[in-house]
Amino acid sequence: MIKFYNSLSRQKEEFVPLDANHVRMYACGPTVYNYAHIGNARATVVFDQWARLLRHLYPKVTYVSNITDVEDKIMIAAKEAGVPILEITEKYTKIYNDDMASLGANLPDVQPKATEHIGEMITQIEALIARDHAYEAEGHVLFNVPSDPSYGVLSGRSRDEQVAGARVEVAPYKKDPADFVLWKPSTEDQPGWDSPWGFGRPGWHIECSAMAEKHLGLPFDIHGGGADLKFPHHENEVAQSCCANDKANEPESFSKYWIHNGFLTVEGEKMSKSLGNFLTVHDVIKNYDGEVIRLTLLSAHYRQPLDWSEQALHQNKILLDKLYKKLDELKDIYLAPLANDMAARVEKIPTAILQALCDDLNTPLVLMELNKLLKEKEGTELKEALIYTGDLLGILQKDPKDYFAVDHSSVDEDKINTLIEKRNQAKAAKDYAGADAVRDELLGMGIEIKDTRDGTTWQKV
Ligand code: AMP
Ligand code: ZN
Repeated sequence: MIKFYNSLSRQKEEFVPLDANHVRMYACGPTVYNYAHIGNARATVVFDQWARLLRHLYPKVTYVSNITDVEDKIMIAAKEAGVPILEITEKYTKIYNDDMASLGANLPDVQPKATEHIGEMITQIEALIARDHAYEAEGHVLFNVPSDPSYGVLSGRSRDEQVAGARVEVAPYKKDPADFVLWKPSTEDQPGWDSPWGFGRPGWHIECSAMAEKHLGLPFDIHGGGADLKFPHHENEVAQSCCANDKANEPESFSKYWIHNGFLTVEGEKMSKSLGNFLTVHDVIKNYDGEVIRLTLLSAHYRQPLDWSEQALHQNKILLDKLYKKLDELKDIYLAPLANDMAARVEKIPTAILQALCDDLNTPLVLMELNKLLKEKEGTELKEALIYTGDLLGILQKDPKDYFAVDHSSVDEDKINTLIEKRNQAKAAKDYAGADAVRDELLGMGIEIKDTRDGTTWQKV
């Protein structure tokens, strides 16, 4: 039995699927205009992990996660690069999927593109206008927030916070400052489609309402995304989908449960493109096996912040190395193929691990249990537990030989030398605590330093 924190009810609940034979989940996907950073990857890996768990426990799961391929940021990127928009979106969709695959994230069952669902969006907007929840003004169509008595139900935001949080420029054609755009006009050189309101393009929020309904039907079980999307994006999705179907007061008529992942941070601050404090998956993967990155992303509970550091990566690399080493030692043990059903696999997964995952995806506890397994089990029992747990977690999918054959630990010599220089300066200034902190930072990167007569030397530990 799965229990998790439902953002809609603001409490931990038992998961009761609408149809126990077919679980349906939607998670907001990326806007494709540049490389995904590790923070974006956290959302992808978390929802991939939920999908993996659900697939182990229910006979059928449909997991939908979209590609936002029409957005102003994409238009700007295309203009800067001097190439057509499609070139940008196709290139970065492929890079995104390749990067996420290297982190063990399976492709969702459906990965709908916004530009292929313009007709569905127009139909939904028409329904909203027909029910007086939206209005046309100067080529725009806006959702009228005061027309929805339940608006704020997901985020719990008050009316004042809604207006402030919507961060909308005061547009003269708006009836209410909280109203948001469903459709906006495009000029000839911008992407656009013919609509009852002229040549234009959809707002961002309506995409997910239209694509979730088309590919999952309403209501569906779980809607997910990063905590930053709860307001306004998810709040607006609820408003659009419920009001278009004349169910304004029934938020569960869209998605029964909502799951939000916490932020990945750098020195306590959210990793984001706008702050410039981001690391792309593309770069991190050069130095660490994708499974190490995945394990690190899962090392904190998904709702808690996860502070990204070399130390965290290194620690998880040590654990993964240990697991692969054990698998290598057990390589001569033959595992008979299992019947092709999940139940047989689930049986091989230690109960404590399954229970931890079913308890709001408690992955930190799972990592502790993995360590315990190495001490407590052996032989066939251990190998089975590792292989089938690995399958559930998206790790241990490689031949140990291949895992160890690639030297991902290529060191960043410039960084090491900069840190050694920093430590020398600290020592010269008699700042011994500072010098020790740098030594620890290097150790966290797997680098041990030695002071010799000829200066400071370093080696990999
Ligand atoms: P964006 O490309 O900014 O629309 O984000 C795509 C997905 O990544 C969304 O689900 C965001 O909530 C998520 N996301 C972005 N930054 C972070 C972060 N620092 N930590 C966790 N999730 C994030
Ligand atoms: Zn969305």
